[in-house]
Amino acid sequence: MKIKGVVLREINQPYSIEELELEPPKEKEALVRYVYTGYCHSDLHNLLGEVRMAIPLVAGHEAAGVVEEVGPGCTRVKKGDHVVATWMIPCGKCPKCLKGMGNICSGNFDNFVNGMLLDGTSRIKDKNGNMVRHGNFVSGLSNYMVVPESGLIPIPRDFPLEYACLMGCCVPTGWGSVTHCAKIQPGDSVAIWGLGGIGLNILRAAVLRQAHPVIAVDLDESKGDLALEFGATHFICNSKEDPVPRIQQLTHGGVDFAFEAIGDPGAIVQAYWTITSGGKLIVVGITPADEVTHLPLQVLAFGNKSILGNLYGMVSTDVDIPKLVHLAMTQDLKLDKLVTHKFRVDEINEVVHKMHHGQIRGRWVCAWE
Ligand SMILES: [Zn+2]
Ligand SMILES: [Zn+2]
Repeated sequence: MKIKGVVLREINQPYSIEELELEPPKEKEALVRYVYTGYCHSDLHNLLGEVRMAIPLVAGHEAAGVVEEVGPGCTRVKKGDHVVATWMIPCGKCPKCLKGMGNICSGNFDNFVNGMLLDGTSRIKDKNGNMVRHGNFVSGLSNYMVVPESGLIPIPRDFPLEYACLMGCCVPTGWGSVTHCAKIQPGDSVAIWGLGGIGLNILRAAVLRQAHPVIAVDLDESKGDLALEFGATHFICNSKEDPVPRIQQLTHGGVDFAFEAIGDPGAIVQAYWTITSGGKLIVVGITPADEVTHLPLQVLAFGNKSILGNLYGMVSTDVDIPKLVHLAMTQDLKLDKLVTHKFRVDEINEVVHKMHHGQIRGRWVCAWE
């Protein structure tokens, strides 16, 4: 069938919006009609070549929609199901999966970076008949896509799809960082660098876990209102003020948990300097591939401090995404405040430009209908 997709053909060049040919789903695959797709900072990292994936690929990894057709042998999803697509599909068999770390599954990693489905092939061709790759198993920036059914999480039909797409990346990454990685307890002090989609979910999760204080840090002063709306007790604009002494003063010596949700080496260093003895720095942001940094080491042992990284919030997608959807339906995750703008696919390169220049507040989602 003919579909419309956003293709990353060349690093650091505008996306190409193309009509593509999509083959029908094979065994244990489903055809999904995407309804909403979030544009994530990781998509921009990919476009800029800071995270290397084989190209050309159909971009986008934060999508939700409706199953239109299933291939042979599908048992998890059926036609008409509303689903969230996930970009990490645990194989269930590799050493990481067997240790309960499906978020860093090694079994499907080669297909992930090569842009192939689980059988090592693609279902997408361009108008010249040349193969186009699947972006992170999801290829969310397309109106229809074939995805492995094991990468689809069925959700209740009364949960709005404009919020469901966020369940594919920024919500589990942010929440999982707080609940699975930091395991925040009431009264823990927290600071967060970067108020994008992931940072705002870290902030909201910390607030609902009764952390105190919850200090938000961002270069953009205009995000102060958003931070307070999400429940931050303090906002520090680090383009105007050094947050390190201020946070040390507000917390009488430093925070229990500092989260870095940008992938900026300077922010990681700032965050490291704010953790108290026994504190943990949690790196969630994806830095460019060849970045290194310089940190004092002796305090790690003397101060009983830790630096932790985590991918995809350490979530188990099958277990945690339904839980997060339930949470969103019963508690105020502020997803309605997170989605600040809906755009059409033809505007994608303007969205890229705005994200690149720090002009996006909250999450912008592509509406396919
Ligand atoms: Zn993402
Ligand atoms: Zn695995």
